[in-house]
Amino acid sequence: MTTTTAPRLPLDWVTIFFIGAIHLGALLAFVPGMTNWSAVGVMLILYFITGGLGITLGFHRLITHRSFEVPKGLEYFLAFCGTLACQGGPIDWVGLHRLHHLHSDQEGDPHDSNRGFWWSHMGWMLHHLPQDQEIPKYTKDINQDGVYVFLQNWMLPLQVGLGLLLFALGGWPWVVWGIFVRLVFVYHATWFVNSATHKYGYRTYETQDRSTNCWWVALLAFGEGWHNNHHAFPHSARHGLRWWEIDATWMMIWALQKLGLATKVRLVNGPA
Ligand SMILES: [Zn+2]
Ligand SMILES: [Zn+2]
Repeated sequence: MTTTTAPRLPLDWVTIFFIGAIHLGALLAFVPGMTNWSAVGVMLILYFITGGLGITLGFHRLITHRSFEVPKGLEYFLAFCGTLACQGGPIDWVGLHRLHHLHSDQEGDPHDSNRGFWWSHMGWMLHHLPQDQEIPKYTKDINQDGVYVFLQNWMLPLQVGLGLLLFALGGWPWVVWGIFVRLVFVYHATWFVNSATHKYGYRTYETQDRSTNCWWVALLAFGEGWHNNHHAFPHSARHGLRWWEIDATWMMIWALQKLGLATKVRLVNGPA
């Protein structure tokens, strides 16, 4: 693998401004009167709903990799939760992540970790990438689905709607913690999967990329830190393969299976 410098790609000023504004907004938590226990509780609940149910269970293991199936209504609900994580609409998210697996740490990978920690963590999304044009080729299963198209196009209005709801229920502290602080936490938890777990930790499998298993990313991102296992077996619903590799998203899938809601759950034999 070769180390390359960041390519000269045009900056995406809309995304730069948006992500910058979310981070600045989170600093409002330090303003007196903007923090209370209920606001922190709302942040934690929404962290689980948008980061856990939405991104890792919904966008990643269900929709991107189809590692299990659920009734369509539940799939749409999980996609809705993922859209509230404001990481791009589901079609863009799924397409870019499928491209990551197709070209992991090679040319064509949107967040090729050979370009450095910063690039793989968030630098890549602050640029217009040539891969953006390829997304529709890799999302043919959801491109024409009206619900996915709606979620793709209405990501920002939905977030504003959530903000208004939080304001009505708990005033500015709920907005600051439930929107801004929560988005910053979910963002970096997700981004560490692209950066830290292509750099820090151990490798159980000799995959063709730099993916690693890293316990603290697994704790922050509901089990997604067992990323070397995931690159070795992308379609496995379970990423934590050793007994101590705690995988909260797998626990959710297991529970859904027990309830009869998750079917065709794909699994692999872990390491001996
Ligand atoms: Zn990866
Ligand atoms: Zn994946």
